[in-house]
Amino acid sequence: MKRYSVFAIAREALRQQSGWERAWGSPEPATSYDVVIVGAGGHGLATAYYLGKNFGITNVAVLDKGWLGGGNTGRNTTIIRSNYLQDPSAAIYEKARSLYETLSQQLNYNIMFSPRGVMMLAQTEHEVRGYKRTARANALQGVETRYISPAEVKRLVPIINIDGPRYPVLGALWQARAGTARHDAVAWGYARACSDMGMHIIQNCEVTGVESVGGQISAVTTTRGTIGCKKVGIVVAGHSGQLADLAGFRLPVESVSLQALVSEPIKPCMDVVVMANTVHGYLSQSDKGEMVIGGGADHFNNYTQRGSWMHIEETVRALNETFPMLSRLKMLRQWGGIVDMTGDRSPIISKTPLGGCFINCGWGTGGFKAIPGSGWAMAELIAKGHSPLAEAFSMDRFREGRFIDESVAAGVAH
Ligand SMILES: Cc1cc2nc3c(=O)[nH]c(=O)nc-3n(C[C@H](O)[C@H](O)[C@H](O)COP(=O)(O)OP(=O)(O)OC[C@H]3O[C@@H](n4cnc5c(N)ncnc54)[C@H](O)[C@@H]3O)c2cc1C
Repeated sequence: MKRYSVFAIAREALRQQSGWERAWGSPEPATSYDVVIVGAGGHGLATAYYLGKNFGITNVAVLDKGWLGGGNTGRNTTIIRSNYLQDPSAAIYEKARSLYETLSQQLNYNIMFSPRGVMMLAQTEHEVRGYKRTARANALQGVETRYISPAEVKRLVPIINIDGPRYPVLGALWQARAGTARHDAVAWGYARACSDMGMHIIQNCEVTGVESVGGQISAVTTTRGTIGCKKVGIVVAGHSGQLADLAGFRLPVESVSLQALVSEPIKPCMDVVVMANTVHGYLSQSDKGEMVIGGGADHFNNYTQRGSWMHIEETVRALNETFPMLSRLKMLRQWGGIVDMTGDRSPIISKTPLGGCFINCGWGTGGFKAIPGSGWAMAELIAKGHSPLAEAFSMDRFREGRFIDESVAAGVAH
Protein backbone atom coordinates (compact mmCIF):
# COMPACT_ATOMS: atom_id res chain seq x y z
CA MET A 1 0.00 0.00 0.00
CA LYS A 2 1.32 3.46 -0.87
CA ARG A 3 2.32 5.59 2.10
CA TYR A 4 0.43 8.77 2.89
CA SER A 5 2.77 11.77 2.75
CA VAL A 6 2.85 15.45 1.97
CA PHE A 7 4.06 14.55 -1.54
CA ALA A 8 1.10 12.18 -2.06
CA ILE A 9 -1.31 14.95 -1.01
CA ALA A 10 0.33 17.38 -3.42
CA ARG A 11 0.29 14.83 -6.26
CA GLU A 12 -3.38 13.99 -5.73
CA ALA A 13 -4.31 17.66 -5.51
CA LEU A 14 -2.94 18.03 -9.05
CA ARG A 15 -4.89 15.06 -10.44
CA GLN A 16 -8.35 15.58 -8.95
CA GLN A 17 -7.81 13.09 -6.08
CA SER A 18 -8.11 10.24 -8.58
CA GLY A 19 -5.12 8.14 -7.48
CA TRP A 20 -5.94 7.17 -3.90
CA GLU A 21 -6.12 3.42 -3.21
CA ARG A 22 -8.91 1.95 -1.08
CA ALA A 23 -7.78 2.16 2.54
CA TRP A 24 -8.65 -1.51 3.23
CA GLY A 25 -9.83 -4.47 1.17
CA SER A 26 -13.24 -6.10 1.24
CA PRO A 27 -12.46 -9.81 0.69
CA GLU A 28 -14.80 -12.80 0.79
CA PRO A 29 -14.21 -14.94 3.90
CA ALA A 30 -11.68 -17.77 3.42
CA THR A 31 -12.49 -21.26 4.72
CA SER A 32 -10.13 -20.93 7.68
CA TYR A 33 -7.61 -18.68 9.43
CA ASP A 34 -5.00 -19.09 12.16
CA VAL A 35 -6.80 -16.46 14.24
CA VAL A 36 -10.31 -15.03 13.98
CA ILE A 37 -11.04 -11.81 15.87
CA VAL A 38 -14.74 -11.18 16.46
CA GLY A 39 -15.44 -7.43 16.56
CA ALA A 40 -13.85 -4.76 14.36
CA GLY A 41 -13.87 -2.04 16.99
CA GLY A 42 -10.65 -0.39 18.13
CA HIS A 43 -9.73 -3.22 20.51
CA GLY A 44 -10.31 -5.99 17.93
CA LEU A 45 -8.42 -4.18 15.18
CA ALA A 46 -5.54 -3.26 17.50
CA THR A 47 -5.32 -6.92 18.57
CA ALA A 48 -5.04 -7.99 14.94
CA TYR A 49 -2.47 -5.27 14.21
CA TYR A 50 -0.14 -6.25 17.07
CA LEU A 51 -0.57 -9.97 16.22
CA GLY A 52 0.95 -9.12 12.86
CA LYS A 53 3.43 -6.48 13.93
CA ASN A 54 4.77 -8.06 17.14
CA PHE A 55 4.37 -11.77 16.38
CA GLY A 56 4.28 -12.09 12.59
CA ILE A 57 0.83 -13.74 12.69
CA THR A 58 -0.99 -12.41 9.62
CA ASN A 59 -3.35 -15.23 8.62
CA VAL A 60 -6.02 -13.35 10.54
CA ALA A 61 -9.64 -12.34 9.90
CA VAL A 62 -11.45 -9.59 11.80
CA LEU A 63 -15.22 -10.08 11.57
CA ASP A 64 -17.87 -7.50 12.36
CA LYS A 65 -21.63 -7.77 12.21
CA GLY A 66 -21.87 -4.14 11.11
CA TRP A 67 -19.27 -1.72 9.80
CA LEU A 68 -15.82 -1.37 11.32
CA GLY A 69 -15.65 1.17 14.12
CA GLY A 70 -19.48 1.36 14.21
CA GLY A 71 -19.72 0.22 17.83
CA ASN A 72 -18.52 2.16 20.85
CA THR A 73 -15.26 3.03 19.10
CA GLY A 74 -17.17 5.40 16.81
CA ARG A 75 -19.49 6.66 19.55
CA ASN A 76 -17.25 7.74 22.39
CA THR A 77 -16.06 11.12 23.62
CA THR A 78 -12.39 10.24 22.91
CA ILE A 79 -10.84 11.00 26.28
CA ILE A 80 -7.38 9.48 26.74
CA ARG A 81 -5.76 9.41 30.18
CA SER A 82 -3.91 6.97 32.43
CA ASN A 83 -4.46 8.39 35.94
CA TYR A 84 -5.92 5.22 37.44
CA LEU A 85 -5.30 4.08 41.00
CA GLN A 86 -4.26 0.44 40.92
CA ASP A 87 -0.89 -0.73 39.57
CA PRO A 88 -2.19 -3.13 36.86
CA SER A 89 -4.52 -0.39 35.53
CA ALA A 90 -1.83 2.28 35.52
CA ALA A 91 0.46 -0.12 33.64
CA ILE A 92 -1.95 -0.93 30.80
CA TYR A 93 -3.50 2.56 30.47
CA GLU A 94 -0.07 4.23 30.51
CA LYS A 95 1.21 1.75 27.93
CA ALA A 96 -1.78 2.72 25.78
CA ARG A 97 -1.29 6.46 26.34
CA SER A 98 2.38 6.26 25.44
CA LEU A 99 1.58 4.24 22.28
CA TYR A 100 -0.97 6.92 21.32
CA GLU A 101 1.83 9.54 21.36
CA THR A 102 3.38 8.05 18.20
CA LEU A 103 0.47 6.06 16.76
CA SER A 104 -0.01 8.39 13.77
CA GLN A 105 3.59 7.78 12.72
CA GLN A 106 3.38 4.03 13.45
CA LEU A 107 0.22 3.60 11.36
CA ASN A 108 1.06 6.28 8.77
CA TYR A 109 -2.44 7.59 9.49
CA ASN A 110 -3.27 10.82 11.26
CA ILE A 111 -5.26 9.84 14.34
CA MET A 112 -5.19 13.48 15.52
CA PHE A 113 -3.83 12.68 18.99
CA SER A 114 -4.11 15.89 20.97
CA PRO A 115 -2.37 15.77 24.38
CA ARG A 116 -4.18 18.88 25.55
CA GLY A 117 -4.44 17.84 29.23
CA VAL A 118 -7.27 16.27 31.22
CA MET A 119 -8.47 17.45 34.62
CA MET A 120 -10.78 15.63 36.99
CA LEU A 121 -12.47 18.17 39.24
CA ALA A 122 -12.63 17.62 42.98
CA GLN A 123 -15.97 19.06 44.14
CA THR A 124 -16.31 17.34 47.53
CA GLU A 125 -13.84 16.73 50.38
CA HIS A 126 -14.07 13.04 49.58
CA GLU A 127 -12.88 13.67 46.03
CA VAL A 128 -10.04 15.91 47.26
CA ARG A 129 -8.74 13.02 49.38
CA GLY A 130 -9.32 10.49 46.58
CA TYR A 131 -7.48 12.48 43.91
CA LYS A 132 -4.55 13.38 46.20
CA ARG A 133 -4.21 9.68 46.86
CA THR A 134 -4.32 8.93 43.12
CA ALA A 135 -1.66 11.59 42.42
CA ARG A 136 0.65 9.90 44.95
CA ALA A 137 -0.08 6.43 43.55
CA ASN A 138 0.61 7.74 40.03
CA ALA A 139 3.96 9.17 41.17
CA LEU A 140 4.97 5.69 42.35
CA GLN A 141 3.73 4.15 39.09
CA GLY A 142 5.66 6.59 36.88
CA VAL A 143 2.46 8.23 35.58
CA GLU A 144 2.82 12.02 35.48
CA THR A 145 -0.12 13.65 37.28
CA ARG A 146 -0.46 16.28 39.97
CA TYR A 147 -3.11 17.74 42.21
CA ILE A 148 -3.81 21.40 41.33
CA SER A 149 -5.50 24.27 43.19
CA PRO A 150 -8.81 25.96 42.28
CA ALA A 151 -6.84 29.01 41.08
CA GLU A 152 -4.88 26.83 38.68
CA VAL A 153 -8.11 25.22 37.48
CA LYS A 154 -9.50 28.67 36.71
CA ARG A 155 -6.29 29.67 34.91
CA LEU A 156 -6.47 26.58 32.68
CA VAL A 157 -10.26 26.81 32.12
CA PRO A 158 -11.38 30.45 32.21
CA ILE A 159 -15.02 29.54 31.42
CA ILE A 160 -15.42 27.46 34.59
CA ASN A 161 -17.39 28.65 37.62
CA ILE A 162 -15.28 27.53 40.58
CA ASP A 163 -17.59 28.98 43.25
CA GLY A 164 -20.44 26.57 43.06
CA PRO A 165 -23.26 27.15 43.89
CA ARG A 166 -23.86 23.58 45.08
CA TYR A 167 -20.47 22.08 44.28
CA PRO A 168 -17.54 24.53 44.41
CA VAL A 169 -14.33 23.44 42.69
CA LEU A 170 -11.86 22.50 45.43
CA GLY A 171 -9.02 21.44 43.12
CA ALA A 172 -8.39 18.86 40.42
CA LEU A 173 -6.27 15.91 39.40
CA TRP A 174 -4.36 17.13 36.33
CA GLN A 175 -2.62 15.00 33.70
CA ALA A 176 -0.91 17.28 31.22
CA ARG A 177 -0.05 14.60 28.59
CA ALA A 178 -3.57 13.17 28.56
CA GLY A 179 -6.04 14.37 25.92
CA THR A 180 -8.08 13.18 22.96
CA ALA A 181 -7.72 11.53 19.53
CA ARG A 182 -10.04 11.18 16.57
CA HIS A 183 -11.99 7.96 17.33
CA ASP A 184 -12.86 6.90 13.76
CA ALA A 185 -9.31 7.50 12.64
CA VAL A 186 -7.98 5.11 15.29
CA ALA A 187 -10.19 2.32 13.89
CA TRP A 188 -9.47 3.29 10.28
CA GLY A 189 -5.71 3.55 10.85
CA TYR A 190 -5.49 0.11 12.42
CA ALA A 191 -7.80 -1.36 9.73
CA ARG A 192 -5.65 0.02 6.93
CA ALA A 193 -2.45 -1.30 8.53
CA CYS A 194 -4.04 -4.75 9.09
CA SER A 195 -5.26 -4.90 5.50
CA ASP A 196 -1.78 -3.90 4.34
CA MET A 197 -0.36 -6.92 6.22
CA GLY A 198 -2.74 -9.18 4.25
CA MET A 199 -5.34 -9.66 6.98
CA HIS A 200 -9.03 -9.92 6.04
CA ILE A 201 -11.44 -7.38 7.51
CA ILE A 202 -14.91 -8.75 6.86
CA GLN A 203 -17.81 -6.42 7.56
CA ASN A 204 -21.51 -7.36 7.66
CA CYS A 205 -20.53 -10.78 9.01
CA GLU A 206 -22.23 -11.62 12.30
CA VAL A 207 -20.90 -14.49 14.39
CA THR A 208 -23.89 -16.65 15.31
CA GLY A 209 -22.24 -19.74 16.79
CA VAL A 210 -18.97 -21.22 18.06
CA GLU A 211 -17.90 -24.78 17.17
CA SER A 212 -15.43 -26.86 19.13
CA VAL A 213 -13.79 -30.28 19.00
CA GLY A 214 -12.59 -31.89 22.24
CA GLY A 215 -12.88 -28.65 24.22
CA GLN A 216 -10.87 -26.70 21.62
CA ILE A 217 -12.26 -24.03 19.29
CA SER A 218 -12.52 -25.24 15.69
CA ALA A 219 -14.73 -22.72 13.85
CA VAL A 220 -17.21 -19.88 14.12
CA THR A 221 -20.51 -19.94 12.29
CA THR A 222 -21.45 -16.63 10.73
CA THR A 223 -24.08 -15.06 8.53
CA ARG A 224 -21.53 -15.54 5.70
CA GLY A 225 -20.83 -19.23 6.35
CA THR A 226 -18.66 -21.30 8.66
CA ILE A 227 -15.10 -20.06 9.15
CA GLY A 228 -12.51 -22.44 10.61
CA CYS A 229 -9.89 -21.15 13.05
CA LYS A 230 -7.19 -22.37 15.43
CA LYS A 231 -7.77 -19.50 17.86
CA VAL A 232 -10.47 -16.91 18.34
CA GLY A 233 -10.44 -13.57 20.16
CA ILE A 234 -13.84 -12.23 21.24
CA VAL A 235 -13.70 -8.42 21.38
CA VAL A 236 -17.30 -7.22 21.13
CA ALA A 237 -17.76 -4.82 24.10
CA GLY A 238 -21.50 -4.60 24.94
CA HIS A 239 -22.25 -7.91 23.20
CA SER A 240 -19.64 -9.91 25.15
CA GLY A 241 -22.26 -11.70 27.24
CA GLN A 242 -23.99 -12.95 24.08
CA LEU A 243 -20.76 -14.22 22.50
CA ALA A 244 -19.68 -15.88 25.75
CA ASP A 245 -23.03 -17.63 25.79
CA LEU A 246 -22.37 -18.97 22.29
CA ALA A 247 -18.94 -20.20 23.45
CA GLY A 248 -20.48 -21.90 26.50
CA PHE A 249 -19.37 -19.78 29.45
CA ARG A 250 -20.75 -16.94 31.52
CA LEU A 251 -19.20 -13.52 32.12
CA PRO A 252 -19.55 -11.20 35.13
CA VAL A 253 -20.52 -8.21 32.95
CA GLU A 254 -23.65 -6.14 32.50
CA SER A 255 -24.54 -4.24 29.33
CA VAL A 256 -25.94 -0.75 29.65
CA SER A 257 -26.29 2.25 27.42
CA LEU A 258 -23.95 5.22 27.84
CA GLN A 259 -24.69 8.40 25.98
CA ALA A 260 -23.08 11.59 24.76
CA LEU A 261 -24.20 14.77 23.01
CA VAL A 262 -22.66 17.67 21.13
CA SER A 263 -23.60 21.32 20.95
CA GLU A 264 -23.61 23.62 17.97
CA PRO A 265 -20.06 24.71 17.05
CA ILE A 266 -18.72 27.83 18.75
CA LYS A 267 -15.42 29.71 18.73
CA PRO A 268 -12.54 28.12 20.70
CA CYS A 269 -13.21 28.58 24.41
CA MET A 270 -11.70 25.58 26.17
CA ASP A 271 -8.46 23.81 25.23
CA VAL A 272 -8.38 21.07 27.88
CA VAL A 273 -10.72 18.20 28.83
CA VAL A 274 -12.69 18.62 32.06
CA MET A 275 -14.40 15.81 33.95
CA ALA A 276 -16.76 16.66 36.78
CA ASN A 277 -17.44 13.32 38.42
CA THR A 278 -19.56 14.52 41.36
CA VAL A 279 -22.09 16.27 39.18
CA HIS A 280 -21.73 13.56 36.53
CA GLY A 281 -20.63 15.25 33.37
CA TYR A 282 -17.54 15.87 31.27
CA LEU A 283 -16.70 18.29 28.56
CA SER A 284 -14.21 19.03 25.78
CA GLN A 285 -14.27 21.11 22.61
CA SER A 286 -13.88 19.37 19.26
CA ASP A 287 -11.73 20.72 16.44
CA LYS A 288 -14.96 21.81 14.72
CA GLY A 289 -15.88 23.86 17.78
CA GLU A 290 -18.69 21.67 19.15
CA MET A 291 -18.79 21.16 22.89
CA VAL A 292 -18.60 17.37 23.35
CA ILE A 293 -20.55 16.34 26.43
CA GLY A 294 -20.82 13.00 28.18
CA GLY A 295 -22.66 11.83 31.25
CA GLY A 296 -23.32 8.72 33.30
CA ALA A 297 -24.49 5.29 32.19
CA ASP A 298 -28.10 4.10 32.36
CA HIS A 299 -29.05 2.52 35.67
CA PHE A 300 -30.71 -0.49 34.05
CA ASN A 301 -29.44 -3.16 31.65
CA ASN A 302 -30.30 -2.61 28.00
CA TYR A 303 -29.04 -2.96 24.45
CA THR A 304 -30.30 0.31 22.98
CA GLN A 305 -27.90 2.74 21.33
CA ARG A 306 -29.95 5.74 22.33
CA GLY A 307 -29.61 6.50 26.02
CA SER A 308 -32.39 7.92 28.15
CA TRP A 309 -34.00 11.36 28.55
CA MET A 310 -33.26 11.27 32.26
CA HIS A 311 -29.52 11.31 31.59
CA ILE A 312 -29.59 14.10 29.02
CA GLU A 313 -31.41 16.27 31.51
CA GLU A 314 -29.23 15.27 34.44
CA THR A 315 -25.96 15.78 32.54
CA VAL A 316 -26.83 19.13 31.02
CA ARG A 317 -28.24 20.45 34.29
CA ALA A 318 -25.11 19.34 36.15
CA LEU A 319 -22.72 20.90 33.64
CA ASN A 320 -24.69 24.15 33.57
CA GLU A 321 -23.79 24.68 37.20
CA THR A 322 -20.07 24.39 36.54
CA PHE A 323 -20.12 25.98 33.05
CA PRO A 324 -22.97 28.57 33.06
CA MET A 325 -22.16 29.60 29.46
CA LEU A 326 -23.45 26.20 28.27
CA SER A 327 -27.02 27.27 29.05
CA ARG A 328 -26.89 29.52 25.96
CA LEU A 329 -25.98 26.69 23.56
CA LYS A 330 -28.24 24.60 21.35
CA MET A 331 -27.59 20.87 21.41
CA LEU A 332 -27.14 19.31 17.95
CA ARG A 333 -26.96 15.54 18.33
CA GLN A 334 -27.25 12.85 20.98
CA TRP A 335 -26.40 9.14 20.74
CA GLY A 336 -25.65 6.09 22.86
CA GLY A 337 -23.39 3.04 22.87
CA ILE A 338 -23.69 -0.30 24.66
CA VAL A 339 -20.96 -0.58 27.25
CA ASP A 340 -19.95 -3.69 29.18
CA MET A 341 -19.46 -3.09 32.90
CA THR A 342 -17.70 -5.36 35.39
CA GLY A 343 -18.23 -5.14 39.14
CA ASP A 344 -14.77 -3.70 39.85
CA ARG A 345 -14.89 -1.38 36.79
CA SER A 346 -11.77 -3.02 35.34
CA PRO A 347 -11.53 -4.95 32.07
CA ILE A 348 -11.22 -8.67 31.40
CA ILE A 349 -8.36 -9.84 29.11
CA SER A 350 -8.34 -13.54 29.56
CA LYS A 351 -8.25 -17.15 28.46
CA THR A 352 -11.68 -18.78 28.71
CA PRO A 353 -12.92 -22.28 29.62
CA LEU A 354 -12.93 -23.08 25.87
CA GLY A 355 -9.44 -23.94 24.58
CA GLY A 356 -8.08 -21.45 22.03
CA CYS A 357 -10.81 -18.93 22.84
CA PHE A 358 -9.77 -15.61 24.41
CA ILE A 359 -11.88 -12.70 25.55
CA ASN A 360 -11.24 -8.98 25.86
CA CYS A 361 -14.15 -7.01 27.36
CA GLY A 362 -15.37 -5.07 30.38
CA TRP A 363 -13.82 -1.75 29.33
CA GLY A 364 -17.17 -0.24 30.19
CA THR A 365 -17.31 3.52 29.88
CA GLY A 366 -13.58 4.04 29.41
CA GLY A 367 -11.95 1.73 26.89
CA PHE A 368 -11.14 4.10 24.02
CA LYS A 369 -8.08 5.34 25.86
CA ALA A 370 -6.88 1.76 26.28
CA ILE A 371 -7.09 0.59 22.67
CA PRO A 372 -3.36 0.36 21.82
CA GLY A 373 -2.36 -1.15 25.18
CA SER A 374 -5.29 -3.56 25.18
CA GLY A 375 -4.53 -4.71 21.63
CA TRP A 376 -0.87 -5.13 22.56
CA ALA A 377 -1.72 -7.29 25.59
CA MET A 378 -4.45 -9.31 23.87
CA ALA A 379 -2.19 -10.09 20.90
CA GLU A 380 0.51 -11.32 23.28
CA LEU A 381 -2.01 -13.44 25.16
CA ILE A 382 -3.30 -15.02 21.93
CA ALA A 383 0.18 -15.55 20.47
CA LYS A 384 2.00 -16.78 23.58
CA GLY A 385 -0.78 -17.81 25.99
CA HIS A 386 0.54 -15.31 28.52
CA SER A 387 0.90 -11.54 28.79
CA PRO A 388 2.36 -9.64 31.77
CA LEU A 389 0.12 -6.63 31.01
CA ALA A 390 -3.03 -8.80 30.93
CA GLU A 391 -2.24 -11.15 33.80
CA ALA A 392 -4.11 -9.31 36.57
CA PHE A 393 -7.18 -8.90 34.34
CA SER A 394 -8.01 -12.61 33.97
CA MET A 395 -11.57 -13.82 34.54
CA ASP A 396 -10.41 -15.87 37.54
CA ARG A 397 -10.10 -12.72 39.64
CA PHE A 398 -13.86 -12.67 40.24
CA ARG A 399 -13.83 -16.24 41.55
CA GLU A 400 -10.69 -15.64 43.61
CA GLY A 401 -11.68 -12.22 44.98
CA ARG A 402 -8.71 -10.36 43.41
CA PHE A 403 -10.71 -7.31 42.36
CA ILE A 404 -8.95 -4.36 40.72
CA ASP A 405 -11.17 -1.68 42.19
CA GLU A 406 -11.30 1.35 39.90
CA SER A 407 -14.68 2.68 40.97
CA VAL A 408 -13.12 6.07 41.79
CA ALA A 409 -11.07 6.39 38.58
CA ALA A 410 -13.99 5.18 36.46
CA GLY A 411 -16.80 6.42 38.71
CA VAL A 412 -18.34 8.59 36.05
CA ALA A 413 -17.78 7.57 32.48
CA HIS A 414 -14.19 7.60 31.43
C1 LIG B 1 -21.07 7.60 24.74
C2 LIG B 1 -19.77 6.95 25.05
C3 LIG B 1 -18.69 7.73 25.46
C4 LIG B 1 -17.47 7.15 25.76
N1 LIG B 1 -16.41 7.96 26.06
C5 LIG B 1 -15.18 7.42 26.25
C6 LIG B 1 -14.06 8.27 26.47
O1 LIG B 1 -14.16 9.50 26.46
N2 LIG B 1 -12.85 7.70 26.71
C7 LIG B 1 -12.70 6.34 26.74
O2 LIG B 1 -11.59 5.88 26.98
N3 LIG B 1 -13.75 5.50 26.47
C8 LIG B 1 -14.98 6.00 26.24
N4 LIG B 1 -16.05 5.18 25.99
C9 LIG B 1 -15.86 3.73 26.00
C10 LIG B 1 -15.23 3.23 24.71
O3 LIG B 1 -15.95 3.76 23.61
C11 LIG B 1 -15.26 1.70 24.64
O4 LIG B 1 -14.72 1.15 25.84
C12 LIG B 1 -14.43 1.20 23.48
O5 LIG B 1 -14.71 1.92 22.31
C13 LIG B 1 -14.71 -0.26 23.25
O6 LIG B 1 -14.09 -0.65 22.05
P1 LIG B 1 -14.29 -2.11 21.51
O7 LIG B 1 -13.44 -2.24 20.31
O8 LIG B 1 -14.09 -3.07 22.63
O9 LIG B 1 -15.85 -2.19 21.19
P2 LIG B 1 -16.71 -1.65 19.96
O10 LIG B 1 -16.11 -0.46 19.33
O11 LIG B 1 -18.12 -1.55 20.46
O12 LIG B 1 -16.58 -2.84 18.90
C14 LIG B 1 -17.21 -4.08 19.09
C15 LIG B 1 -17.65 -4.55 17.72
O13 LIG B 1 -18.17 -5.86 17.86
C16 LIG B 1 -19.16 -6.03 16.89
N5 LIG B 1 -19.99 -7.20 17.21
C17 LIG B 1 -20.85 -7.34 18.25
N6 LIG B 1 -21.43 -8.55 18.22
C18 LIG B 1 -20.92 -9.19 17.13
C19 LIG B 1 -21.12 -10.48 16.54
N7 LIG B 1 -21.98 -11.36 17.06
N8 LIG B 1 -20.44 -10.81 15.41
C20 LIG B 1 -19.55 -9.93 14.85
N9 LIG B 1 -19.33 -8.69 15.38
C21 LIG B 1 -19.99 -8.34 16.49
C22 LIG B 1 -19.92 -4.71 16.90
O14 LIG B 1 -20.61 -4.49 15.70
C23 LIG B 1 -18.78 -3.71 17.14
O15 LIG B 1 -18.34 -3.10 15.94
C24 LIG B 1 -17.31 5.73 25.68
C25 LIG B 1 -18.37 4.93 25.27
C26 LIG B 1 -19.60 5.54 24.94
C27 LIG B 1 -20.72 4.67 24.47
